[in-house]
This record gives sequence, C-alpha cells and structure tokens, in this order.
Amino acid sequence: MGECREVWVFIEHQDGRIADVSLELLTKARELADRLQGAVAALLLGHGVAELAEIAIHHGADVVFVADHPELTPYRTLPYARVAIELVREYKPYILLLGATPVGRDLAPRIASACWAGLTADCTALQIGDVQRSGETYTELLYQIRPAFGGNVIATIVNPEMHPQMATVREGVMQLGAPDPTRSGEVLTVEPQFEEGDLALQVVDRSLRLPTCDLKGASVIVAGGAGVGSKENFGLIYDLAEVLGGEVAASRAAVDAGFVSHEHQVGQTGTTVRPRLYVACGISGAVQHRAGMDQSSKIIAINSDPNAPIFQIAHYKIVGDLNEVIPAMIDALRGSPE
Ligand code: FAD
Repeated sequence: MGECREVWVFIEHQDGRIADVSLELLTKARELADRLQGAVAALLLGHGVAELAEIAIHHGADVVFVADHPELTPYRTLPYARVAIELVREYKPYILLLGATPVGRDLAPRIASACWAGLTADCTALQIGDVQRSGETYTELLYQIRPAFGGNVIATIVNPEMHPQMATVREGVMQLGAPDPTRSGEVLTVEPQFEEGDLALQVVDRSLRLPTCDLKGASVIVAGGAGVGSKENFGLIYDLAEVLGGEVAASRAAVDAGFVSHEHQVGQTGTTVRPRLYVACGISGAVQHRAGMDQSSKIIAINSDPNAPIFQIAHYKIVGDLNEVIPAMIDALRGSPE
C-alpha cells in the first residue's frame, strides 16, 4: 500500500452477499481516495468469504484484506475487533468507514477507542476539506457531516490529529456506483491471532427476521405522517400505495404513534429512499424526515397547512385534508366517474 493515504471500508456480508451499505461506502471511498490521490482498502472478515474480494475490487477497492477463519462466523464483537484493531494499528489508514448497521455500530466504537480515534455516527455526507484552528491549517481532512442538536444544525465534524478519521453511514445515504468488472486489485491474506478471551462468547442460536417491505428498492412510495390520525386511517395510505403500485412508508411520528412498524420509517433514523415518486401525506417535513427522502425524483405533498415545510421541497403541493384528497386521488387513478 506504500505511503499513500488510505480510505478503508469495513465490508459486511450475509449469505455470501456483500451488504449494499458496504458497496455504497466503497463507491464513496473511491471518490474520497481519488481526491486524496490515495488508495481504497476493504476489510473482509468471515469464513468462506474470499470470493467476495473480487466484488469489493469491482466496486472500487485497490486492496482487500481477507481474514478467513471459522471463528469469524457468525459475527462476534471481540474476534472482529481483534482483527480490525491489529490491522488498523499496523497499516494506519487515514479514514475508516463502516455501515451504521447493528454490526457497524458495535464494531466502530471498539476500534475508535482502541486507536484513540474520533468517530462520527450516522453521517449524511462525507467530503475532503481544509480546517483552520488555533492558527494552524489542517489540510485534506474528512468532513463528517450530519444533523445535530435535534436537526437544528447540520454539523461538520473533523478529527485533525488522531487517525483514522472514522465515520458510520446508514444504508442508502451514499449512492451506489456501478461495478467495473475490469478493475483489478490486490488481495492480502490475514492470519488472525486470537487470545483466549476473544472467543469467550459462544453463539448458541441465531434467528434472522427478514424485512417485510423494500423501501430502498421501491420506485413509488406513499408515506403517511401523524396527520393521518390513527392506525385505522393508515389504511388510506395502503390503499393509495396499492393503486400506485408502491410501498408504504411513514414518518417517525406515525411510527411512534403505532400506526405502522419501524421498518416503514423514512428519515435520519429510518431508511433513506430515492424513489421516482414520493407521496407525503400528513407529514410536516421536519429536517430529519427530509434527510431520508429529499433525493426523490418527484415529491407530491398533501397537507392541510399551507405553510408546512414539506411544501418547500415538494414538486406538487396539495393543500387540503388528506381524508378528502386521498380518496379523490384513488378514484381518479381507478378511473371512477366521481
Ligand atoms: P407532525 O410534525 O406532527 O406533522 C403532521 C402534519 O400533518 C402537519 O404538517 C399537519 O399540518 C398535517 N396534517 C394534520 N392533519 C392533516 C389532515 N387531515 N390532512 C392533511 N394534513 C394534515 N422523523 C422522521 O420522520 N424520520 C426520522 O428518521 C426521524 N429521525 C429523527 C431523529 C432525531 C434525532 C430527532 C430528534 C427526530 C427525528 N424525527 C424523525 C422526528 C422529526 O423531528 C419529526 O418530529 C417527525 O418527522 C414529525 O412527523 P410528522 O411530520 O408525521 O408529524
């Protein structure tokens, strides 16, 4: 890897498939590394995972560190932390990115605290830039950008001295680039050395719950907010989604009120979506909600308040009571004479 500045990505995988969030981070890492004239490395831990290295290379990695060991499946905090921390200490990456997933959120703080590095969770943007502080100029730092203080500010967080500069990013926040099957890279095999205590925890059983909706892949989404009023009335959102052939989503207020389950939540602490059409019904348009849907190609907003912030980003604005507007839309779409 030489002396160049390296951007590392921790690769998550399940059933022989790299998680989308890791591929999205490889795309972003490639962009950052090109800006730094550096290299991208992928950290691939598990058992029977070596063939995934090629996919990481096609998505932008120059080097893939592969630690393939029976003790590395399924994921356990201590063995993974042992391998990742040893590698970070040895190779000193400039930047380390992980998915803001249950695994990434577990592993990232372990690595950060062992390496005395800073860590910003749930970044919504990552850029390279300079920083002036106390008369000193720090060049080409990682700007770790995310909403803070309840969304009242967008904070740019930097980590000038202690590296790696670490960040986690939620799935869907970064764009996934197309793979380039002509790319080539280097695979470095890592022989993990565990200590007895690393293996103290034994996994006796695992059960995975598969998602019941696919918001990220949906091209049409109909989302309901607190303005829908009740779980029963949320049927209107399902009806409109059915007519439009789309998925059902919700604001956090609607989820918190029990109208629909959390996996339907869009926003900073939900899913980030980029559908062709997003219909926001009874959603005010708080910054945390917008962070998850403002990249939609077309946004229709239905709200009884003409000053609702959602109208600032909507392409089509319907001021009215959703209890009247949605049935009228459904009738029109079904071709009813009414
Ligand atoms: P409200 O803000 O209560 O808005 C309801 C809207 O419905 C109003 O605009 C009202 O005019 C309209 N309305 C009422 N009745 C009708 C009617 N009959 N017809 C038409 N319109 C009507 N929120 C998210 O959505 N996703 C997140 O991921 C998320 N993460 C967060 C993370 C943090 C750290 C914090 C602090 C907050 C987060 N929030 C998130 C919450 C966010 O700040 C808002 O509170 C939430 O988005 C509000 O949801 P809402 O728009 O449905 O409700």
